[in-house]
Amino acid sequence: MRQLYTARLATKLLLSDVAQCFHLEFAVDELPEFAFKAGQFVSCVADDPKTGKQQTRAYSIASAPRENMFDICVNRVEGGFFSNLLCDLEEGDTLKFHGAHGLFTLRQPPVDSVFIATGTGIAPMRGFAQWLFPEDGPNRSEGKDVWLVYGTRYESDIYYQDYFEQLAAKHPNFHYIATLSRGQESWTGQRGYVQEHVARLVATRAEQKVLVGAGDVQPERNPNGPFEIYAYICGLNDMVSASRDRLVGMGWEKKQVVFERDD
Ligand SMILES: Cc1cc2nc3c(=O)[nH]c(=O)nc-3n(C[C@H](O)[C@H](O)[C@H](O)COP(=O)(O)OP(=O)(O)OC[C@H]3O[C@@H](n4cnc5c(N)ncnc54)[C@H](O)[C@@H]3O)c2cc1C
Repeated sequence: MRQLYTARLATKLLLSDVAQCFHLEFAVDELPEFAFKAGQFVSCVADDPKTGKQQTRAYSIASAPRENMFDICVNRVEGGFFSNLLCDLEEGDTLKFHGAHGLFTLRQPPVDSVFIATGTGIAPMRGFAQWLFPEDGPNRSEGKDVWLVYGTRYESDIYYQDYFEQLAAKHPNFHYIATLSRGQESWTGQRGYVQEHVARLVATRAEQKVLVGAGDVQPERNPNGPFEIYAYICGLNDMVSASRDRLVGMGWEKKQVVFERDD
C-alpha cells in the first residue's frame, strides 16, 4: 500500500487565462522535507462523486526540492475530472497524493543538454532549471550548455516565460528558445515545431556535419565516443515520438534521449 500524503495549496497563480493554466504551490505539512528528484511526478488521488470511484492522475513537479513544498502546473481539460478539481482548488484546500515517482530525472554527471517541451511539459523543465541554477546556492550546471526549446501554439500558452528569460539573461550557458506553431503576426520570436529547432541546434553544435537528404543535417559520430549531450523531452505523445525519432535518426543513441509523455 502506497503512503498517501496530504498537500495544502499554499499559492495559486493563473499562468494563462486563455489556456486556463494554473501554477499551484503545495506544502506537505506533515513532513519537514518533501524529498524528490527534479523531474519526477506526484500521483494525485481523489474520489469522483459521479462514479464513486477513486481516481489517480500524474502531475509533473514544476519545481526543484525546497523544504516541504512542491509546485505543479495544470491545464484545465474540458470535461476532465482531475484537472478541473485542481484548477478549482482555493488556497488552503487540501489534496491527497503519493510519490514522488518517475525516472525522468537529470542524468549525472551533467553534460550539455537539450530540454524539449510543449504545453505543460514545461513543468519538469522548470524543476530541472531550478535545480541546475538555484537562486540561492551553488550553480550545479558545471558550465555545461543547456538549451530549452519550448513549443506552444500561441503566445498566451508560453508558461513561465519571465522566469526562463531572466535565467537566460543571468546564465550564459542557459539558452531559451520559445517557438510558436500558430503565432500571430506580431510575434517576433521563433516559429515552427520544436523538433525542427532541435535538429538545427544539434547540427550547429556538432563540429563535423554532413548534409543528407533534402536539406536535413546529420552530425557525424564523434570518433572518440558518443556525443556528450542528452535530450530530455516532455509533452504530448506525438511531439515526444517525433522529437525522439528525429534525434535517433540523426545518430543519437537511445540512452541519450530521456523522455516523459504527459498524456
Ligand atoms: C507522467 C505524467 C505527467 C503529467 N503531468 C502533467 C502536468 O504537469 N500538467 C497537466 O496539466 N497534466 C499532466 N499530466 C496529465 C494528467 O495526468 C491528466 O491526464 C490530465 O490533467 C487530464 O486529466 P482529467 O482527469 O482532467 O481528464 P480525464 O477525466 O482523464 O479525461 C477527460 C477527457 O479529456 C481528454 N484529455 C485528457 N488529457 C487531455 C489533455 N492533456 N488535453 C486534451 N484532452 C485531454 C481525455 O482523453 C478524455 O476524453 C501528466 C500525465 C502523466 C502521465
